[in-house]
Amino acid sequence: MKKKRSFALVLIMMVMLLTAAPVGLIPDVYAADGAASAAKEVKKEDPAAKYPKYKGKNAKKIAVLTYHMVVSNSKKASSKYRNSSLAVSQSTFDRQMKWLKKHGYRTICCEELYLWHKGKLKLPKKSVLITFDDGASGVADYALPILKKYKMKGTSFIVGTRTVNNKRGTISYKKYKKLKKNQKYLEFQSHTYGLHHHVKKSGAYAKVKKDIKKQNKYFDFEYLAYPYGYYNSGMIKAYKESNIKMAFTYGHNDYATRDQSLYKIRRIKVNANESFSRFTRWF
Ligand SMILES: [Zn+2]
Repeated sequence: MKKKRSFALVLIMMVMLLTAAPVGLIPDVYAADGAASAAKEVKKEDPAAKYPKYKGKNAKKIAVLTYHMVVSNSKKASSKYRNSSLAVSQSTFDRQMKWLKKHGYRTICCEELYLWHKGKLKLPKKSVLITFDDGASGVADYALPILKKYKMKGTSFIVGTRTVNNKRGTISYKKYKKLKKNQKYLEFQSHTYGLHHHVKKSGAYAKVKKDIKKQNKYFDFEYLAYPYGYYNSGMIKAYKESNIKMAFTYGHNDYATRDQSLYKIRRIKVNANESFSRFTRWF
């Protein structure tokens, strides 16, 4: 009789723990008997739990914007950057983010797009993923304060070797570590470790395998943007076998949809010199 009662008690406690865990309702008092680790496991099983629950109609397509450099207004006015389609001025970027915010767009991170693609997370039609290729330092200096101001998120795809070797004009490894720890507006993902060039089809699989190994010594990236949007079957095979869960192309100028391969997600290039109406036509 006594055994039965204690079994029932344990059962009741387990049910309580399981239902309380996802919303963080477990009191500290249970932590001593291993409840804390049980709660962690429950959370681990559902990566979608940390994102806002959306109950409306799921988005059919999502705009993934691609920027490169974000520079100060004075730099943009200089002859070096004036005509560069890759260098957007601080004020142009601000105007675009302000417009998105004003029109009710919600910025998402790579994981949210991935979970949406897998059918594990619903996203509103007005979702947008803001990405920056090449890991230029201006992204941290000029874009990040604007993202913070509007409480928006962005993803910086960095070239591992450039950051690890503190290449001029690139986010340094020290800064990368600091930003990764101290803020939640800009996340960092991969633009390869040292393959920022066209990778020939022959030998591509082995090259990417080696590159991922080196990358994983310094970074814990799960998403990748192909340099120049260039990919081939060997590269894709190597990424599929790695910790990279999803990869983005470049140059299609098209929305991301769930019927695209997870390793060929399309993006939209924001030309730094295009008119404001050219920018808003995607929304
Ligand atoms: Zn690039």
